[in-house]
Amino acid sequence: MKENHELQLLYYDIITDMLKQERLDNELIEKMLRRLSEYLETDYLALYLHFETTNSLRLLASVSHLKQYEPEEFISNKDLIADHFFKGKKPEYVRFIPIQLEKSSVLFLLYDKPVSLTEQVLLQLREETEKAFSIVERIWNKMLQQKYNTLLLDTSMKMLMAHDKSEVLHQMVEALESVYQDYSFHLILTLEYGATSTLPIKILKYSDTLPMPVSTEVFMTGKFQIEVESEQGIKTVYAPIAGEQSVYGVLELIVPITDYFPLQEQQFIEEFAFLSGKALEKTMLYEDSLSQVSELTLLNNTIHDLNAALKLEELTELIRKQIMKITGATEVGFIYFDEKSDKDFDILTGSTALFQGIQGQQLANEYKVKIMKTREAIFTGNATELEKYGYQSVMVIPMVYSGLSMGFAIVLHKNAYYFGFENFKLIVSLMQDSALAISNTILKERLQTTVITDYLTQVYTRRYLEETINDHEENGATGVLLLFDIDNFKSVNDTYGHHVGDRVLKQTASVMEKAIGNDGVVARWGGEEFAVYLPELALRDAQRSAGKIREQIPLGTDPSITVSCGISSWYRGEHVTQESLFKRADQALYQAKSKGKNRILTL
Ligand code: GH3
Ligand code: MG
Ligand code: MG
Repeated sequence: MKENHELQLLYYDIITDMLKQERLDNELIEKMLRRLSEYLETDYLALYLHFETTNSLRLLASVSHLKQYEPEEFISNKDLIADHFFKGKKPEYVRFIPIQLEKSSVLFLLYDKPVSLTEQVLLQLREETEKAFSIVERIWNKMLQQKYNTLLLDTSMKMLMAHDKSEVLHQMVEALESVYQDYSFHLILTLEYGATSTLPIKILKYSDTLPMPVSTEVFMTGKFQIEVESEQGIKTVYAPIAGEQSVYGVLELIVPITDYFPLQEQQFIEEFAFLSGKALEKTMLYEDSLSQVSELTLLNNTIHDLNAALKLEELTELIRKQIMKITGATEVGFIYFDEKSDKDFDILTGSTALFQGIQGQQLANEYKVKIMKTREAIFTGNATELEKYGYQSVMVIPMVYSGLSMGFAIVLHKNAYYFGFENFKLIVSLMQDSALAISNTILKERLQTTVITDYLTQVYTRRYLEETINDHEENGATGVLLLFDIDNFKSVNDTYGHHVGDRVLKQTASVMEKAIGNDGVVARWGGEEFAVYLPELALRDAQRSAGKIREQIPLGTDPSITVSCGISSWYRGEHVTQESLFKRADQALYQAKSKGKNRILTL
């Protein structure tokens, strides 16, 4: 029990002393080791960092009373340690105490005379040492945090006031030098930003060969990484210098593996790199905006040409191609809010394949909710909400037409930070003009459909049928016109009311459409008259179709009605005019009526 109490106080004064210190360093660790060594009366005692992945060890600190003994800095395999140190000595001279610190597990190795420590003492030693380290860590981390917060605030103020990128880079280096005098660091930048020669700058290496250098990987993914090289005794910290819209470079810091480098320190570097990225971005946006003007003008001209009489499908196709060309995007979708439709939105035909499927629909839906809320474009290089679809870079650009939100475009790429801000601005501008073109085209097409479809029966209008016949007579060889008139329709209205009359008209139209299918065009000719034009069909076949219709109409209508039909036809070289075609069909119909109705007559 006495022992236990002593053990608890083992590190007490060391920790109290540390509070007056500024930095947790190897000196402190050595002090703790010395204390332990005295207590256990060891000849030799060492603390190693243990790398679980490689099972290797690196020396942190040691206390030796054996003068000739030189500790090994790096041991490639933990299991060989006994051989390594105690060649020819008995294994009972050796004790290991694994200690779990915040990150890596650390191994205490003690060596003394034949060891007579009880398991209980070993266990408590381990506990007390872990406890001491964790107290030290906590206090030290707090101090670090304060120091870094002040520094971050200071430098970010300075950097955000910088006028150009070289000024930002200088500020970065100055701040890093003040914190990491003992470490080597570099800014790894792409060629365009890396030209400032006096600073510790490396140029980013692009290469397709795998494995990619970690720095390139960090640049591509925008994700912080630490590379541990236990044999070299170093770890390299890579923090992306990223703004909101892009990654501009990577901050590289090389730290000896044995140096205490807690999470706070990593967070500081990450934060620092991000602040620098934002500051860089700010200065660059300004510089770039000047050079973008001419490109924008060019684009606008293209789009104004687009306003010509294109079909919606062609128009959206064209815009999609432009977007893909400018940005290198792999997927582009156009989402259109149609107030005439019962769906939430339409996906326009020019959209890429993704948007024709269920995933695209979901995606469109998610972004619709977002866009409706903020009414602002979205531009992200690491969109977490897209992970499940396999994309990271996204631009969502609302289409606004005379203040009305008409829909939006979604532009995607699977790589992180793929789109540049310049691209984003171009696409925003492109979509402004496209919104107008798309809206006009949709209106025009809608107007056209209303002109060619009969509002009640949804078959074609007489005007459309006449145009069809006209067009066909120019190039075709033969065609047949069937003219139908419902028998005694007045009495349907009189008996059942106009409403039921309307229903019968719809039923009649639908029977005719089903019977004709793709063979011809069904149109409403007048009140209770319908016409069917059958291009390139033999008269006999047309008569058969008419017969089918006459038979089916009484079955497909409620109340059941009958129809009379007049047929006329034309052949190339016969010199028939459209008027004579209509006139003959009408005459035939008249004769069918006068011969007792519910029959077909050809003239
Ligand atoms: P017939 O056998 O000689 O063709 O006799 P009919 O009663 O069918 O011919 P008539 O020309 O005397 O009457 C046509 C009727 O069709 C008159 C009109 O009220 C009715 N009609 C025309 N358009 C519509 C419509 O859109 N809805 C309804 N319910 N009735 C219509
Ligand atoms: Mg009539
Ligand atoms: Mg009639």
